[in-house]
Amino acid sequence: MASSITVILNKCTGCTLCVRSCPFGAISMANKKAVIDMAKCTLCGACVTTCKFSAIELKKDSPQGAPKDLSAYKDVWVFCEQKKGVIQTISFELLGEGKKLAKKLGVKLCAVILGHNIEAKIEELSHRGADKIYVVDDPALKAYLDDPYTEVLVNLVQEYKPEIILCGATVIGRSLVSRVAVKIDAGLTADCTGLDIDEKEKLLLQTRPAFGGNIMATIITPNHRPQMATVRHKVMKEAEIHKGHKAEVIRKKFPGASLKSRTTLLDIVEEIEETVNLAEADIIVSGGRGLGSPENFSVVKELAKVLGAAVGSSRAAVDAGWMPYSHQVGQTGKTVCPKLYVACGISGQIQHLIGMQSSKVIVAINKDPDAPIFKVATYGIVGDVLEIVPALTKEFKKVLKK
Ligand SMILES: Cc1cc2nc3c(=O)[nH]c(=O)nc-3n(C[C@H](O)[C@H](O)[C@H](O)COP(=O)(O)OP(=O)(O)OC[C@H]3O[C@@H](n4cnc5c(N)ncnc54)[C@H](O)[C@@H]3O)c2cc1C
Repeated sequence: MASSITVILNKCTGCTLCVRSCPFGAISMANKKAVIDMAKCTLCGACVTTCKFSAIELKKDSPQGAPKDLSAYKDVWVFCEQKKGVIQTISFELLGEGKKLAKKLGVKLCAVILGHNIEAKIEELSHRGADKIYVVDDPALKAYLDDPYTEVLVNLVQEYKPEIILCGATVIGRSLVSRVAVKIDAGLTADCTGLDIDEKEKLLLQTRPAFGGNIMATIITPNHRPQMATVRHKVMKEAEIHKGHKAEVIRKKFPGASLKSRTTLLDIVEEIEETVNLAEADIIVSGGRGLGSPENFSVVKELAKVLGAAVGSSRAAVDAGWMPYSHQVGQTGKTVCPKLYVACGISGQIQHLIGMQSSKVIVAINKDPDAPIFKVATYGIVGDVLEIVPALTKEFKKVLKK
Protein backbone atom coordinates (compact mmCIF):
# COMPACT_ATOMS: atom_id res chain seq x y z
CA MET A 1 0.00 0.00 0.00
CA ALA A 2 1.37 3.44 -0.92
CA SER A 3 1.41 6.46 1.46
CA SER A 4 -1.75 8.56 1.37
CA ILE A 5 -3.46 11.55 2.94
CA THR A 6 -7.23 11.96 3.11
CA VAL A 7 -9.63 14.64 4.32
CA ILE A 8 -12.51 12.99 6.21
CA LEU A 9 -15.29 15.23 4.92
CA ASN A 10 -17.86 14.60 7.66
CA LYS A 11 -15.28 15.62 10.32
CA CYS A 12 -13.97 18.72 8.47
CA THR A 13 -15.57 21.90 9.86
CA GLY A 14 -13.96 24.24 7.35
CA CYS A 15 -12.02 26.04 10.12
CA THR A 16 -9.01 26.65 7.74
CA LEU A 17 -6.39 25.88 10.44
CA CYS A 18 -4.86 23.30 8.10
CA VAL A 19 -4.62 25.84 5.26
CA ARG A 20 -2.52 28.10 7.47
CA SER A 21 -0.40 25.26 8.84
CA CYS A 22 0.66 23.84 5.47
CA PRO A 23 4.25 24.99 4.72
CA PHE A 24 3.81 24.07 1.04
CA GLY A 25 0.55 25.91 0.26
CA ALA A 26 -0.99 22.58 -0.69
CA ILE A 27 -4.35 23.04 1.07
CA SER A 28 -7.25 25.22 -0.07
CA MET A 29 -10.97 25.35 0.79
CA ALA A 30 -13.75 24.31 -1.55
CA ASN A 31 -17.36 24.32 -0.36
CA LYS A 32 -16.09 24.88 3.22
CA LYS A 33 -14.06 21.66 3.13
CA ALA A 34 -10.28 21.25 2.98
CA VAL A 35 -8.88 20.09 -0.35
CA ILE A 36 -5.28 18.84 -0.61
CA ASP A 37 -3.33 19.44 -3.82
CA MET A 38 -1.28 16.24 -4.11
CA ALA A 39 1.08 17.89 -6.60
CA LYS A 40 2.25 20.18 -3.78
CA CYS A 41 1.74 17.96 -0.70
CA THR A 42 4.89 16.31 0.71
CA LEU A 43 3.02 14.25 3.34
CA CYS A 44 4.88 16.19 6.07
CA GLY A 45 1.91 15.79 8.42
CA ALA A 46 1.81 19.43 9.65
CA CYS A 47 -1.93 19.65 8.85
CA VAL A 48 -2.66 16.38 10.67
CA THR A 49 -1.23 17.66 13.95
CA THR A 50 -2.90 21.07 13.53
CA CYS A 51 -6.41 19.76 12.81
CA LYS A 52 -8.44 19.86 16.02
CA PHE A 53 -11.16 17.59 14.59
CA SER A 54 -9.00 14.61 13.46
CA ALA A 55 -10.33 15.29 9.99
CA ILE A 56 -7.11 14.56 8.13
CA GLU A 57 -5.71 11.04 8.01
CA LEU A 58 -2.15 10.31 6.97
CA LYS A 59 -0.99 6.80 6.19
CA LYS A 60 2.74 6.54 5.68
CA ASP A 61 4.62 3.42 4.68
CA SER A 62 8.31 2.87 4.14
CA PRO A 63 9.22 2.98 0.42
CA GLN A 64 9.46 -0.80 0.37
CA GLY A 65 5.85 -1.02 1.54
CA ALA A 66 6.59 -2.97 4.69
CA PRO A 67 7.40 -1.47 8.09
CA LYS A 68 11.10 -1.59 8.90
CA ASP A 69 12.53 -4.16 11.26
CA LEU A 70 14.64 -1.80 13.38
CA SER A 71 16.25 -4.63 15.35
CA ALA A 72 18.19 -5.63 12.22
CA TYR A 73 20.22 -2.39 12.49
CA LYS A 74 23.46 -2.58 14.51
CA ASP A 75 26.75 -0.71 14.97
CA VAL A 76 27.87 2.90 14.83
CA TRP A 77 29.34 4.02 11.52
CA VAL A 78 31.57 7.00 10.88
CA PHE A 79 31.95 8.19 7.31
CA CYS A 80 35.65 9.06 7.10
CA GLU A 81 36.24 11.85 4.66
CA GLN A 82 39.51 11.91 2.72
CA LYS A 83 40.84 14.62 0.44
CA LYS A 84 43.73 13.77 -1.87
CA GLY A 85 44.20 10.61 0.20
CA VAL A 86 44.49 12.51 3.51
CA ILE A 87 41.89 11.59 6.13
CA GLN A 88 40.28 14.80 7.37
CA THR A 89 40.61 15.40 11.12
CA ILE A 90 36.82 15.65 11.51
CA SER A 91 36.81 11.88 10.93
CA PHE A 92 39.04 11.34 13.97
CA GLU A 93 36.75 13.58 16.02
CA LEU A 94 33.73 11.50 14.97
CA LEU A 95 35.56 8.26 15.71
CA GLY A 96 36.25 9.58 19.22
CA GLU A 97 32.57 10.40 19.78
CA GLY A 98 31.38 7.27 17.95
CA LYS A 99 33.45 5.10 20.29
CA LYS A 100 31.55 6.48 23.31
CA LEU A 101 28.18 5.87 21.63
CA ALA A 102 29.15 2.35 20.52
CA LYS A 103 30.29 1.54 24.05
CA LYS A 104 26.99 2.67 25.53
CA LEU A 105 25.07 0.57 23.00
CA GLY A 106 27.42 -2.43 23.31
CA VAL A 107 28.02 -2.46 19.54
CA LYS A 108 30.97 -2.03 17.17
CA LEU A 109 32.47 1.23 15.96
CA CYS A 110 32.91 1.07 12.19
CA ALA A 111 34.76 3.41 9.84
CA VAL A 112 33.72 3.75 6.20
CA ILE A 113 36.27 5.05 3.73
CA LEU A 114 35.88 5.58 -0.01
CA GLY A 115 38.67 6.64 -2.35
CA HIS A 116 41.46 5.36 -4.58
CA ASN A 117 44.76 3.85 -3.42
CA ILE A 118 43.65 4.25 0.18
CA GLU A 119 44.96 0.92 1.49
CA ALA A 120 47.54 2.75 3.64
CA LYS A 121 44.76 4.62 5.42
CA ILE A 122 43.29 1.47 6.96
CA GLU A 123 45.91 1.26 9.67
CA GLU A 124 45.37 4.92 10.58
CA LEU A 125 41.65 4.33 11.12
CA SER A 126 42.36 1.17 13.04
CA HIS A 127 44.71 3.05 15.39
CA ARG A 128 41.92 5.59 15.99
CA GLY A 129 39.73 2.88 17.48
CA ALA A 130 37.59 1.53 14.62
CA ASP A 131 36.60 -2.11 15.26
CA LYS A 132 35.61 -2.65 11.65
CA ILE A 133 36.54 -0.74 8.50
CA TYR A 134 34.53 -0.81 5.27
CA VAL A 135 36.82 0.09 2.37
CA VAL A 136 35.74 0.81 -1.20
CA ASP A 137 38.78 1.50 -3.38
CA ASP A 138 38.10 2.49 -6.96
CA PRO A 139 39.50 5.10 -9.41
CA ALA A 140 35.95 6.49 -9.73
CA LEU A 141 36.02 7.35 -6.01
CA LYS A 142 39.38 9.15 -6.02
CA ALA A 143 37.79 12.53 -5.31
CA TYR A 144 34.32 13.22 -3.96
CA LEU A 145 31.46 13.19 -6.46
CA ASP A 146 27.83 13.12 -5.36
CA ASP A 147 26.56 10.26 -7.53
CA PRO A 148 29.10 7.46 -7.00
CA TYR A 149 29.66 8.25 -3.32
CA THR A 150 25.91 8.26 -2.66
CA GLU A 151 25.43 5.02 -4.58
CA VAL A 152 28.18 3.24 -2.64
CA LEU A 153 27.09 4.45 0.80
CA VAL A 154 23.42 3.64 0.14
CA ASN A 155 24.40 0.11 -0.94
CA LEU A 156 26.61 -0.41 2.10
CA VAL A 157 23.84 0.79 4.43
CA GLN A 158 21.28 -1.49 2.79
CA GLU A 159 23.59 -4.49 3.04
CA TYR A 160 25.10 -4.02 6.52
CA LYS A 161 22.36 -1.99 8.27
CA PRO A 162 24.12 0.36 10.73
CA GLU A 163 21.97 1.84 13.48
CA ILE A 164 23.85 5.15 13.57
CA ILE A 165 25.80 7.03 10.88
CA LEU A 166 27.93 10.04 11.78
CA CYS A 167 29.39 12.35 9.20
CA GLY A 168 31.24 15.67 9.26
CA ALA A 169 29.13 18.77 8.65
CA THR A 170 31.58 19.69 5.92
CA VAL A 171 30.80 20.69 2.34
CA ILE A 172 31.25 17.04 1.30
CA GLY A 173 29.50 15.52 4.33
CA ARG A 174 26.46 17.76 4.02
CA SER A 175 26.08 17.01 0.33
CA LEU A 176 26.57 13.25 0.75
CA VAL A 177 24.50 12.27 3.75
CA SER A 178 21.45 14.34 2.82
CA ARG A 179 21.32 12.42 -0.47
CA VAL A 180 21.82 9.10 1.33
CA ALA A 181 19.14 9.91 3.95
CA VAL A 182 16.54 10.61 1.25
CA LYS A 183 17.33 7.39 -0.62
CA ILE A 184 17.10 5.16 2.44
CA ASP A 185 14.15 7.01 4.02
CA ALA A 186 16.09 7.94 7.15
CA GLY A 187 16.06 11.04 9.32
CA LEU A 188 19.07 13.37 9.43
CA THR A 189 19.99 15.91 12.10
CA ALA A 190 22.44 18.47 10.76
CA ASP A 191 25.10 20.38 12.71
CA CYS A 192 24.81 18.55 16.02
CA THR A 193 26.80 20.02 18.89
CA GLY A 194 26.17 17.10 21.24
CA LEU A 195 25.48 13.37 20.85
CA ASP A 196 24.49 10.83 23.48
CA ILE A 197 22.51 7.64 23.94
CA ASP A 198 19.18 7.36 25.74
CA GLU A 199 20.19 4.28 27.71
CA LYS A 200 16.61 3.13 28.27
CA GLU A 201 15.32 3.47 24.72
CA LYS A 202 18.74 2.91 23.08
CA LEU A 203 18.11 5.94 20.87
CA LEU A 204 20.64 8.48 19.62
CA LEU A 205 20.11 11.87 21.28
CA GLN A 206 21.06 14.52 18.75
CA THR A 207 21.45 18.00 20.22
CA ARG A 208 21.72 21.10 18.06
CA PRO A 209 20.89 24.81 18.25
CA ALA A 210 17.40 25.73 17.08
CA PHE A 211 15.39 28.93 16.61
CA GLY A 212 18.42 31.00 15.67
CA GLY A 213 20.51 29.50 18.46
CA ASN A 214 18.15 30.60 21.23
CA ILE A 215 17.41 27.05 22.38
CA MET A 216 19.22 23.74 22.22
CA ALA A 217 16.93 21.04 20.81
CA THR A 218 17.50 17.33 21.36
CA ILE A 219 16.18 15.30 18.46
CA ILE A 220 15.46 11.56 18.37
CA THR A 221 14.68 9.24 15.47
CA PRO A 222 12.49 6.49 16.96
CA ASN A 223 10.92 5.05 13.80
CA HIS A 224 13.64 4.98 11.18
CA ARG A 225 17.11 3.55 10.80
CA PRO A 226 19.86 4.43 10.54
CA GLN A 227 19.85 7.47 12.83
CA MET A 228 21.96 9.97 10.93
CA ALA A 229 23.74 13.07 12.21
CA THR A 230 26.31 15.53 10.97
CA VAL A 231 28.69 17.22 13.39
CA ARG A 232 30.85 20.25 12.76
CA HIS A 233 34.61 20.29 12.83
CA LYS A 234 36.20 21.00 16.23
CA VAL A 235 33.08 20.31 18.30
CA MET A 236 34.19 16.85 19.49
CA LYS A 237 37.58 15.64 20.72
CA GLU A 238 39.71 13.49 18.40
CA ALA A 239 39.98 9.76 19.16
CA GLU A 240 43.26 8.91 20.81
CA ILE A 241 45.82 6.88 18.88
CA HIS A 242 46.33 3.28 20.04
CA LYS A 243 48.95 1.73 17.82
CA GLY A 244 48.22 -1.84 18.87
CA HIS A 245 44.52 -1.67 17.93
CA LYS A 246 43.56 -3.90 15.00
CA ALA A 247 40.31 -3.62 13.06
CA GLU A 248 38.48 -6.15 10.93
CA VAL A 249 38.59 -4.95 7.31
CA ILE A 250 35.77 -5.46 4.80
CA ARG A 251 36.73 -4.59 1.22
CA LYS A 252 33.86 -4.08 -1.20
CA LYS A 253 33.86 -3.78 -4.98
CA PHE A 254 31.15 -2.14 -7.05
CA PRO A 255 30.57 -2.61 -10.78
CA GLY A 256 31.80 0.35 -12.86
CA ALA A 257 28.31 1.17 -14.11
CA SER A 258 27.06 1.86 -10.59
CA LEU A 259 29.87 4.38 -10.02
CA LYS A 260 28.89 6.61 -12.93
CA SER A 261 28.57 10.32 -12.25
CA ARG A 262 26.39 12.95 -13.89
CA THR A 263 29.01 15.54 -13.02
CA THR A 264 32.68 15.71 -13.96
CA LEU A 265 35.31 17.05 -11.65
CA LEU A 266 37.43 19.47 -13.67
CA ASP A 267 39.71 20.88 -11.01
CA ILE A 268 40.01 21.50 -7.29
CA VAL A 269 41.06 25.07 -6.52
CA GLU A 270 42.34 25.58 -3.01
CA GLU A 271 41.45 28.86 -1.32
CA ILE A 272 44.64 30.83 -0.84
CA GLU A 273 44.83 31.80 2.82
CA GLU A 274 46.83 34.90 3.60
CA THR A 275 47.22 33.69 7.15
CA VAL A 276 46.59 30.43 8.98
CA ASN A 277 43.57 28.18 8.19
CA LEU A 278 40.79 29.21 10.56
CA ALA A 279 39.47 25.76 11.47
CA GLU A 280 42.93 24.37 12.28
CA ALA A 281 44.35 27.46 13.99
CA ASP A 282 45.68 27.42 17.56
CA ILE A 283 45.22 31.19 17.82
CA ILE A 284 42.43 33.24 16.22
CA VAL A 285 42.05 37.02 16.24
CA SER A 286 38.49 37.95 15.23
CA GLY A 287 36.96 41.30 14.39
CA GLY A 288 33.39 42.56 14.49
CA ARG A 289 31.28 45.58 13.69
CA GLY A 290 32.99 47.46 16.52
CA LEU A 291 35.96 48.01 14.19
CA GLY A 292 33.83 50.56 12.40
CA SER A 293 35.12 50.16 8.85
CA PRO A 294 36.75 47.58 6.54
CA GLU A 295 40.03 49.56 6.63
CA ASN A 296 40.18 49.21 10.42
CA PHE A 297 40.21 45.42 10.03
CA SER A 298 43.93 45.90 9.35
CA VAL A 299 44.53 46.22 13.13
CA VAL A 300 43.09 42.70 13.59
CA LYS A 301 45.16 41.34 10.69
CA GLU A 302 48.33 42.94 12.10
CA LEU A 303 47.82 41.35 15.52
CA ALA A 304 47.05 38.00 13.86
CA LYS A 305 50.27 38.22 11.85
CA VAL A 306 52.41 38.91 14.91
CA LEU A 307 50.79 36.03 16.84
CA GLY A 308 50.89 33.61 13.88
CA ALA A 309 47.11 33.48 14.15
CA ALA A 310 44.19 33.05 11.77
CA VAL A 311 41.78 35.93 11.18
CA GLY A 312 38.14 35.40 12.15
CA SER A 313 35.10 37.58 11.79
CA SER A 314 31.61 38.07 13.15
CA ARG A 315 28.70 37.77 10.73
CA ALA A 316 28.04 41.51 10.97
CA ALA A 317 31.49 42.20 9.52
CA VAL A 318 30.97 39.58 6.80
CA ASP A 319 27.50 40.92 5.93
CA ALA A 320 28.99 44.41 5.68
CA GLY A 321 31.44 43.06 3.08
CA TRP A 322 34.48 43.72 5.31
CA MET A 323 35.60 40.08 5.34
CA PRO A 324 34.91 37.04 3.11
CA TYR A 325 32.38 34.49 4.42
CA SER A 326 35.12 31.85 4.79
CA HIS A 327 36.34 33.80 7.88
CA GLN A 328 32.96 33.87 9.66
CA VAL A 329 32.84 32.23 13.08
CA GLY A 330 29.53 31.10 14.54
CA GLN A 331 26.33 29.26 13.94
CA THR A 332 26.23 29.92 10.21
CA GLY A 333 30.01 30.12 9.89
CA LYS A 334 32.82 27.94 11.24
CA THR A 335 33.03 26.32 14.65
CA VAL A 336 36.49 26.84 16.10
CA CYS A 337 38.26 25.63 19.21
CA PRO A 338 41.65 27.37 19.37
CA LYS A 339 43.92 27.67 22.39
CA LEU A 340 43.46 31.46 22.25
CA TYR A 341 40.53 33.45 20.76
CA VAL A 342 40.78 37.24 20.71
CA ALA A 343 37.42 38.94 20.02
CA CYS A 344 37.86 42.56 18.91
CA GLY A 345 34.72 44.73 18.81
CA ILE A 346 32.39 41.70 18.86
CA SER A 347 29.29 41.93 21.06
CA GLY A 348 29.01 38.17 21.72
CA GLN A 349 25.53 37.32 20.46
CA ILE A 350 24.62 33.66 21.00
CA GLN A 351 25.04 32.86 17.29
CA HIS A 352 28.68 33.97 17.49
CA LEU A 353 29.32 32.29 20.86
CA ILE A 354 28.12 28.91 19.54
CA GLY A 355 31.08 28.91 17.17
CA MET A 356 33.86 29.85 19.60
CA GLN A 357 32.87 29.44 23.24
CA SER A 358 34.79 26.18 23.69
CA SER A 359 38.07 28.01 22.95
CA LYS A 360 40.57 27.44 25.77
CA VAL A 361 41.32 31.11 26.53
CA ILE A 362 39.06 33.92 25.32
CA VAL A 363 40.22 37.55 25.35
CA ALA A 364 37.48 40.11 24.63
CA ILE A 365 38.05 43.76 23.76
CA ASN A 366 34.91 45.91 23.79
CA LYS A 367 34.06 49.46 24.80
CA ASP A 368 30.78 48.34 26.39
CA PRO A 369 31.43 46.75 29.83
CA ASP A 370 28.04 44.99 29.62
CA ALA A 371 28.71 43.33 26.24
CA PRO A 372 27.69 39.62 26.45
CA ILE A 373 31.11 38.53 25.15
CA PHE A 374 32.52 39.30 28.61
CA LYS A 375 30.36 36.52 30.08
CA VAL A 376 32.39 33.87 28.23
CA ALA A 377 35.72 35.73 28.26
CA THR A 378 38.67 34.55 30.32
CA TYR A 379 40.14 38.07 30.16
CA GLY A 380 38.15 41.20 29.30
CA ILE A 381 39.56 44.56 28.22
CA VAL A 382 37.08 47.46 28.27
CA GLY A 383 38.11 50.15 25.84
CA ASP A 384 38.45 51.31 22.23
CA VAL A 385 39.49 48.45 20.01
CA LEU A 386 41.40 50.84 17.74
CA GLU A 387 43.66 51.84 20.62
CA ILE A 388 43.96 48.52 22.44
CA VAL A 389 44.61 46.16 19.53
CA PRO A 390 47.53 48.20 18.05
CA ALA A 391 48.97 48.50 21.58
CA LEU A 392 48.79 44.72 22.02
CA THR A 393 50.40 44.19 18.60
CA LYS A 394 53.26 46.52 19.54
CA GLU A 395 53.80 44.77 22.86
CA PHE A 396 53.62 41.24 21.38
CA LYS A 397 56.10 42.26 18.68
CA LYS A 398 58.57 43.25 21.41
CA VAL A 399 57.98 40.20 23.60
CA LEU A 400 58.01 37.62 20.81
CA LYS A 401 61.23 39.04 19.32
CA LYS A 402 63.13 38.09 22.48
C1 LIG B 1 20.12 32.55 12.19
C2 LIG B 1 21.27 33.45 12.55
C3 LIG B 1 22.55 32.99 12.37
C4 LIG B 1 23.63 33.80 12.71
N1 LIG B 1 24.89 33.32 12.55
C5 LIG B 1 25.93 34.06 12.97
C6 LIG B 1 27.27 33.56 12.89
O1 LIG B 1 27.54 32.47 12.39
N2 LIG B 1 28.27 34.34 13.36
C7 LIG B 1 28.06 35.59 13.91
O2 LIG B 1 29.02 36.23 14.32
N3 LIG B 1 26.81 36.08 13.96
C8 LIG B 1 25.76 35.38 13.49
N4 LIG B 1 24.50 35.91 13.53
C9 LIG B 1 24.37 37.35 13.85
C10 LIG B 1 24.42 37.64 15.33
O3 LIG B 1 23.14 37.56 15.88
C11 LIG B 1 24.96 39.09 15.55
O4 LIG B 1 24.18 39.99 14.81
C12 LIG B 1 26.41 39.27 15.13
O5 LIG B 1 27.22 38.28 15.71
C13 LIG B 1 26.87 40.64 15.60
O6 LIG B 1 28.16 40.88 15.15
P1 LIG B 1 29.09 41.91 15.93
O7 LIG B 1 29.27 41.43 17.32
O8 LIG B 1 30.30 42.15 15.11
O9 LIG B 1 28.24 43.26 15.88
P2 LIG B 1 27.42 44.01 17.00
O10 LIG B 1 26.46 43.12 17.65
O11 LIG B 1 26.93 45.25 16.37
O12 LIG B 1 28.52 44.38 18.08
C14 LIG B 1 29.54 45.31 17.91
C15 LIG B 1 30.24 45.43 19.24
O13 LIG B 1 31.34 46.27 19.09
C16 LIG B 1 31.43 47.13 20.23
N5 LIG B 1 32.15 48.35 19.79
C17 LIG B 1 31.70 49.35 18.98
N6 LIG B 1 32.69 50.23 18.77
C18 LIG B 1 33.75 49.79 19.47
C19 LIG B 1 35.07 50.28 19.66
N7 LIG B 1 35.52 51.41 19.05
N8 LIG B 1 35.91 49.59 20.45
C20 LIG B 1 35.50 48.45 21.09
N9 LIG B 1 34.27 47.96 20.94
C21 LIG B 1 33.42 48.60 20.13
C22 LIG B 1 30.02 47.38 20.65
O14 LIG B 1 29.97 47.71 22.03
C23 LIG B 1 29.37 46.05 20.33
O15 LIG B 1 29.38 45.20 21.48
C24 LIG B 1 23.42 35.12 13.20
C25 LIG B 1 22.12 35.57 13.38
C26 LIG B 1 21.05 34.75 13.06
C27 LIG B 1 19.67 35.26 13.26
